[in-house]
Amino acid sequence: MQINTKIVTGQSSSEPDANSSLSAEITVVIGAGVIGLVTACRLQQQGQQVLLLDPNGVGAGCSFGNAGHLATEQVFPLADPALLPKLPGFLLDPLGPLAIRPGYFWRALPFFYRFLRQMLRGARQANTEALKVLLQDAIAAWQRLANDASCSDLLRYQGSLLVFEQSTLAQVEQVAQGYRAQGVALSILTQKQLQQNYPGLSGAVRYAILFEEVGHTLSPSLLNQRLYQWFLGMGGRFEQQKVLAIAQATVPALASSATAPLQLTLATKQITAKTVVLCTGAYSKQLLKPLGYQLPLEAERGYHLMTSPPSMPAIPVASFDRKMIMTPMQHGLRLAGTVEFAGLKAADNWQRATLLRRHGEALWPELAGSISQVGPEACWSGLRPTLADSLPVISRSHLPGLWLHFGHQHLGLTLAAVSTELLIQNMQGDAAALKKALPYRVTRF
Ligand SMILES: Cc1cc2nc3c(=O)[nH]c(=O)nc-3n(C[C@H](O)[C@H](O)[C@H](O)COP(=O)(O)OP(=O)(O)OC[C@H]3O[C@@H](n4cnc5c(N)ncnc54)[C@H](O)[C@@H]3O)c2cc1C
Repeated sequence: MQINTKIVTGQSSSEPDANSSLSAEITVVIGAGVIGLVTACRLQQQGQQVLLLDPNGVGAGCSFGNAGHLATEQVFPLADPALLPKLPGFLLDPLGPLAIRPGYFWRALPFFYRFLRQMLRGARQANTEALKVLLQDAIAAWQRLANDASCSDLLRYQGSLLVFEQSTLAQVEQVAQGYRAQGVALSILTQKQLQQNYPGLSGAVRYAILFEEVGHTLSPSLLNQRLYQWFLGMGGRFEQQKVLAIAQATVPALASSATAPLQLTLATKQITAKTVVLCTGAYSKQLLKPLGYQLPLEAERGYHLMTSPPSMPAIPVASFDRKMIMTPMQHGLRLAGTVEFAGLKAADNWQRATLLRRHGEALWPELAGSISQVGPEACWSGLRPTLADSLPVISRSHLPGLWLHFGHQHLGLTLAAVSTELLIQNMQGDAAALKKALPYRVTRF
């Protein structure tokens, strides 16, 4: 694919070529989270000259501190009718597994309305199918990517556990059957089997589902850094810049042409580009609103706490009852989870992160004697970009040359490789890929 881009540098005095124009055949990727990074890497690998932009550096957003779980078993959309009876409690308990900040409920009401509609049987089935299409190839896509980027050492494919403390075997069987019906490979482990195979696990855990075909990374942030190094090594460029606005360039001679370039307004300069991919996660709604998109996109804030127990489980352990996960990583055991609707800018509620420790100790008693790590990675929050139907946007926009790639909810790490493959096939005009991506088109809203 031929991509033509013209960069016009701005007036910043810190720019050596502040008053000059420079032409280059480049593609601009906005946002350097895992979605933007993988997109930039794959486009650069194709021989395009990619400029990656992010005001916060590389991999510093939600992709920095996630639970590192390649969670291909998570085939069910987030809009689950089982949430309904619990909704009043969510509004009242600021430390519950799902919380809505007082005052924010009303602002997020349009999203919640659309979210509730996705609970209807037909919508839920369609969304499950569309998630499965991506998830079924997600691990293989990561293997292809990790192989190309030489970062396979940071990935493990040994499964993960979903543990139950309160449920009877019949109830666990019922949950397992739901997954099996969607083609998820699993086995049920009894308390005795768990104690034999995972000796650090609390005796309070009665059963677990072992998801057999899932994986995890030893460090999401190292993975991002390695992808970035690969990107730079292939000749990709990064600038720490915020994109303030996207518009179609008003070049009179080209104004009526489908090949009119896009104009990006940055803090210090303007860029005109023929091709731009927007990968700005939870921030995408703001950037797209001036272009006429009203997206039901919300930031689901989550937290992590890093700990250093004497020993760690070999694979991620998620809790059915506690709605959190513990993932063994290169630098300790990461406790992660919880969902909080508070918008993009509210201050973090660090109590939600420290609460994870109590859950962790209940599941992995050795944690009780250990101290939590200190430093910037110890307590962290990130904004999951979630659309009402739990599906990402992998789509062209109405502006020629502007592609959209965001909204991967709790599965951004899991889906980054496969979603990028589909996006690029769409950019290449592959007919089968265009059809495959229909459920993820931006015009579905
Ligand atoms: C606690 C927690 C645990 C999680 N666990 C998992 C897990 O185990 N497995 C999994 O698959 N997923 C997990 N996720 C979800 C996953 O982290 C996200 O889906 C993923 O990081 C989203 O990636 P992204 O690149 O779209 O967004 P981000 O990583 O947020 O990147 C978006 C980037 O866009 C930049 N940006 C925004 N506005 C602009 C602008 N105007 N100009 C330029 N750049 C801009 C931001 O600075 C940011 O760096 C978890 C999330 C949380 C919070």
